[in-house]
Amino acid sequence: MDFVIDVLPMQILSPKDGPAAEVVNLGGRAAICLVCEHASRRIPESLGTLGLSTDDQSSHAAWDLGAGDLARQLSGRLDAPLVLGRISRLVHDCNRPPEQSDATPERTETIDIPGNRNLTSEERSARAREVYEAFHQLLSDTLDGFDTKPVLVTVHSFTPQWFGKKRDTQIGLLHDASDGMARAMMEVAPDKYKTELNQPYSAADGVTHLLAKHGTSRSIDNVMIEVRNDLLDDDAAIEDMAKTLTPMIEAAIERVGNS
Ligand SMILES: [Zn+2]
Repeated sequence: MDFVIDVLPMQILSPKDGPAAEVVNLGGRAAICLVCEHASRRIPESLGTLGLSTDDQSSHAAWDLGAGDLARQLSGRLDAPLVLGRISRLVHDCNRPPEQSDATPERTETIDIPGNRNLTSEERSARAREVYEAFHQLLSDTLDGFDTKPVLVTVHSFTPQWFGKKRDTQIGLLHDASDGMARAMMEVAPDKYKTELNQPYSAADGVTHLLAKHGTSRSIDNVMIEVRNDLLDDDAAIEDMAKTLTPMIEAAIERVGNS
């Protein structure tokens, strides 16, 4: 007798963890699609703590502090749909292609991630399938749902110090192939903050994967906003930053629309 053994693919997320991504304000009327890949520090139960200390689990290595709340504020103020990641970037970074080693980093700055060492190809592909692909499918579906071409705006935060070096940039506006939105936002940036183009890093550092995958490929205007996370450390600060960024985004869309 022949036995056929069905091998189920490895499963990382359980129903308890919930989905890898979510959309808020799907009915938002603005032709803007907001995205926050690094909104969550959630590690699926099946992966334990990835070997991280409690402090490291809530550090900037695991997520972009304040970025999810800032993106939600922007979604409300702009009346725009927002796609948020619900799983820590240490499980799989949705802004890195799965074939790259930094999609599941073994080390971030000074923090080791023991649970990402020596991953098997099965483990890698399970993470890519359940986290990365699920996130990008939801974003793709959301972009497909717009009646008119939307502008793609991604929201991130960065740490004030990197390898002991202070970062002076407060707001970074990064672009991939199309620089219209980033340059237009630079033109209307208030003096209140040190706003810089392609700082504290740029496309050359491989950080514009999502912009290229969805923005450049669909020929829609796009920009990546990076806010230094000490400017997002409480609700009032987050609201202030949302009040600064909202008119910048709106004015920039006017400008690229008229160019
Ligand atoms: Zn980020």
